Amino acid sequence: MSTKQFFTLRAAGMLTMVPGQEPIHDAAIVHDGRFIVHAGPWSRVRATPEAQSGPVTRMDDAILCPGVFNAHTHLEMSHMLGKTVQGQGFTAWMKSLVANPMYSMSDQDVAAHCRRLRRLGTVHVADISTKQAPRLAGILDDSGVFFVAFNEMIFFDPPDQDTKFVPAGRFQHGVLSCAGHALYSTHPHILQQAKASCARHGLPHSLHLAENEEESRILMGEKIEFVELLERANIPMHRFVPPRVSPVRRAADLGLLDEHTLAVHCVTVDQEDIRLLVETRTNVCLCPRSNAHIGEGRAPWERLMRAGLNICLGTDGLGSNQDLNVWNELAWLLERYEDELSLEQALALVTRNPARAMGVSASLGTLEPGKIARWSAVPRDVLRHWPAFGVNG
Ligand SMILES: [Zn+2]
Repeated sequence: MSTKQFFTLRAAGMLTMVPGQEPIHDAAIVHDGRFIVHAGPWSRVRATPEAQSGPVTRMDDAILCPGVFNAHTHLEMSHMLGKTVQGQGFTAWMKSLVANPMYSMSDQDVAAHCRRLRRLGTVHVADISTKQAPRLAGILDDSGVFFVAFNEMIFFDPPDQDTKFVPAGRFQHGVLSCAGHALYSTHPHILQQAKASCARHGLPHSLHLAENEEESRILMGEKIEFVELLERANIPMHRFVPPRVSPVRRAADLGLLDEHTLAVHCVTVDQEDIRLLVETRTNVCLCPRSNAHIGEGRAPWERLMRAGLNICLGTDGLGSNQDLNVWNELAWLLERYEDELSLEQALALVTRNPARAMGVSASLGTLEPGKIARWSAVPRDVLRHWPAFGVNG
């Protein structure tokens, strides 16, 4: 006789985020503590033997959706909250960032941030570490938040023997992978090796791309103040050969873009860049509050969406944002979005889209039988954009 226990959660509504499924009013999830067994209308689910055999918890005010993803963070710099200038552009922001001890993180503080993320319904984090990716992976793993911990390649020297592109490590909740920092800060061969290493290991890749005007101008060969800043950081910019093309074009030419790459920011993109992103099936991560904090405008969200790209949302690190809550990122974007957007399209940015980008669609990103039993309640400042959905209160 089976001793398996089942638990039922009944809520006011649910978006399973399974493509084609309508929002469900009076919905329920049945799970065994690890995996979803049923997800659907309460009227159907209640009749199953699993729902009848265990306790039912009611969330009468909650609209449920899959656990949400934060597709771009820098937990390593969590101690940078409130320490950078706002709205003055990338050069001023970078100066204020590097004036601090950027990598002196405390494991306890980062662990507290991870616990907070989990309480907020965050199920998965794509995190960038410049110095200590394996350490971050360990902290994330202990917290129970699923993750990709990216080991970031920056500057012109390849990693030494001890810090390989993809460092070894086994984790219950995630993987180590590697990311490129940016086209101007990292030698093209290192970016290519990093991407090739990810491809060899079947891992997602990440790259800050088209984040600001400075990046575009450096690629065009302009000697701007930011180049001096890089030189002072011992980056041999005299060895940098400007490709004199747009950042997206350059990334495509280097072979960095495909369906396993997450291009983070994509602020300074034109129609041809968007076409290239579509053609290469590159995933895009928007970080709207970070772009506003730094003062570099915003990505053409509406055009990127209309192009049919797989778009995700990230908070970026606390050096350029006030919190790591991706729900706040979505609410902020919705306040300013200048086109039609369905609730399903909005929630896709923080659920099934990033699940696909991070290669974990088989276990996360939708609420359906066989997936990991993690969900989130859609906050009111997101739901209020769809009054027809009929949330009480
Ligand atoms: Zn970043």
